[in-house]
Amino acid sequence: MQLYSNDQKRLGLYFHIPFCLSKCAYCDFNSAPVQNPEIITRYISALIAHMESYRAAASAYAPDTVFIGGGTPTCIPPEELFRLIRAIKKNFNLTKNVEFTIEANPATVSYPTLLRLHRLGVNRLSMGLQSAHDIELKTLSRRHSRKDFARSFRMARDAKFDNINVDLMFGIPHQTYQSLMHTLSYVTQVSPDHISLYDLKIEPGTPFHRNYNEIAPYLPDEDTEADMYLGAVDYLRSCGYMQYEISNFARRGHMCAHNLKYWNCDEYLGFGVSAHSYFNSSRFSFTADIGRYMQGVEGILENRITITDENEVVEERERIGEYIMLRLRLCAGIDSREFARRFGLDFDTLYGDKCARYIQNGYMTCRGGVYALTPTGMFVSNYILSDILEFEDFGRYYFGG
Ligand code: SF4
Repeated sequence: MQLYSNDQKRLGLYFHIPFCLSKCAYCDFNSAPVQNPEIITRYISALIAHMESYRAAASAYAPDTVFIGGGTPTCIPPEELFRLIRAIKKNFNLTKNVEFTIEANPATVSYPTLLRLHRLGVNRLSMGLQSAHDIELKTLSRRHSRKDFARSFRMARDAKFDNINVDLMFGIPHQTYQSLMHTLSYVTQVSPDHISLYDLKIEPGTPFHRNYNEIAPYLPDEDTEADMYLGAVDYLRSCGYMQYEISNFARRGHMCAHNLKYWNCDEYLGFGVSAHSYFNSSRFSFTADIGRYMQGVEGILENRITITDENEVVEERERIGEYIMLRLRLCAGIDSREFARRFGLDFDTLYGDKCARYIQNGYMTCRGGVYALTPTGMFVSNYILSDILEFEDFGRYYFGG
């Protein structure tokens, strides 16, 4: 067992598993159904080799969050998942209270696997329910039913998981305000510790995008979506789930420490295809091509393959823009004193005038030098941020589902 010291810096670790049972109609994540099971073993070996290559660089850090996401990590053979977890624990000095999350889709987990994951140190599950209506799940081409979810959730509680997130969606074709409220009522009765509620976006390259003309008549209009979002914020609050970020709600003590690292501009290292990192003042990401990723990590070709797609040292001006954009996603907002400490700049002088308009119209608040978006402001945050920052392309820092 490795020991960490209090002097070691904290770090988030992310591992991307790009495999799923099938492709959902709205999904633009880097994931695909597995054609050849051998590729899973090879990919997990590549992930392990890759993290081993970072062992020295990360020795000054004690990671306090780990997130295995995808894709559907729980659709790969459990032994491969256990092998990955053991390697993570061996290669990094994880803190004693590390938050260790795995995304686990309903109908892809068994009780023995959940028990084993918990014993190996996984202490948080993130389950993608999306909707409590089987008809909406079908529209999204999800593989599970509400019954599958209920069974998986019960098994997770039985396996002693006391920190479970449930992912939900609004803006689904055919979804109404009432059906969303019914989903929320169902989920709050199941009583997870954390709920994420994402706005369905029709992304290029997805079946929904290709068939846009067919689904467009059934998509909730913008006013309905605004009602859905604001209604959900109110309802979840009344059930004890406090909003702390645009799409995230938690019971006391259950905010997602890993995702908070992204929004707080803290350091994190991502491994696997398309994984992003912010480490040692640099941002970089790895190739989306699984073949190239594995070959690059394995070093099996004579010509060394580069697996890094983007790599840049983040300049001060860009760091400020990122900070504003990410912090305004949080209900905690931007404290102008903290802003001055970080950047030596006066937030009020730089952005006060722009914010004033939004404060006047109820989209923002400013209390005691802290600027924050209201729920109404959060619904149109992309517009407000682009106006405040006058940016061209910050889309890649958008972490909403
Ligand atoms: S939405 Fe999730 S389960 Fe569906 S294809 Fe994408 S990653 Fe896989």
